[in-house]
Amino acid sequence: MSGIQDKVILITGASSGIGDATAQMLAGRGGHVVLGARRTDRLEKLVNEIRDAGGVAHFRALDVTRLDDVQAFTSFALETHGRIDVVVNNAGVMPLSKLEELKVDEWNRMIDVNIRGVLHGIAAGLPVMKKQGHGQFVNLSSIGGHTVYPTSAVYSATKFAVIAISEGLRQENDNIRVTIISPGVTESELADSISDEGAREAMKEFRRLAIPPEAIARAIAFAIEQPEGVDVNEIIVRPTASAY
Ligand code: NDP
Repeated sequence: MSGIQDKVILITGASSGIGDATAQMLAGRGGHVVLGARRTDRLEKLVNEIRDAGGVAHFRALDVTRLDDVQAFTSFALETHGRIDVVVNNAGVMPLSKLEELKVDEWNRMIDVNIRGVLHGIAAGLPVMKKQGHGQFVNLSSIGGHTVYPTSAVYSATKFAVIAISEGLRQENDNIRVTIISPGVTESELADSISDEGAREAMKEFRRLAIPPEAIARAIAFAIEQPEGVDVNEIIVRPTASAY
C-alpha cells in the first residue's frame, strides 16, 4: 500500500497547529483520519469541516498521558476502520523556562505528554501493526531535539528522547516504518504553554520567523506517501531565515 488514499491515519493533538493542518491535508488527499485531543469541541468542528469537503474523519477525546485512553483511542480507530496504517504521535507541550526557576510541575508535564505520550502511542499501536505486518509511526520531535539553548533543557530532553525512541523502534522492526519530523519554529499555539515571563518574551521574538503548519503537514504527507519499502527516517523543516 502506498500513497495516502484510503490509509487509516491516527493523529494525536489534532485540535490545533500542526495536528490540525496535518489532519486537513491528509484527509484532503484521501486519508481516513482519526483525530484525538482533549478539546473535543475543536475536533468536532474540524471533523465536520473535513466531512463537508468530502473527506473521511472521526474523533475521540484523548489524553496521551493516560495509557488506557490511548489504547481506547486506538481501539476506536481499529473498530471503525478495521486496520491502522499510520500513527502520528504529534501531541506536545513546551512550557520553556530556565532550570533555576524549578518549575518541576511543568518539567513533569513535558515528560508526561512529550515522552510518555509517544510511548503510549507506540504501546497501543505496535501490537496492531505487528499483527497486520505493516504500519508507520510518525513521531514529532523538534529542532529542540537537535540543539539545547537556555530555557529548553527539559523540552529538548523530551525531544532528544523522541529521537532515541524512534530510532530504537525503527531498528527493531523491519516491516514497520518510523519517521521523525523535526520542525523549526512553526505557527501554532505551542508557545501559549510558556508561563515564565522571560522565556515567553524571548520566544515572541524567536517566533517572528515562524512558518505555517502546512509546511510541516507537507513533510508528514511526503513520508507517508512513499512506497511501503521506503522509510523516510527524519525530516527537519526550518524557516529559511532561521539559524536554529
Ligand atoms: P499546539 O499547541 O498548537 O498543538 C499541540 C497539540 O497537542 C494540541 O492539539 C493539544 O490538544 C495537544 N495536547 C497537549 N497535551 C495533550 C494531552 N495530554 N493529550 C492529548 N493531546 C494533547 O502546538 P504544535 O502544533 O506546534 O505542536 C505539535 C507538535 O509539534 C508538538 O509535539 C511540538 O512539540 C512539535 N513542535 C512544534 C514546533 C513549533 O514551533 N510549533 C517546533 C518543533 C516541534 P489539547 O490541548 O486539545 O489536548
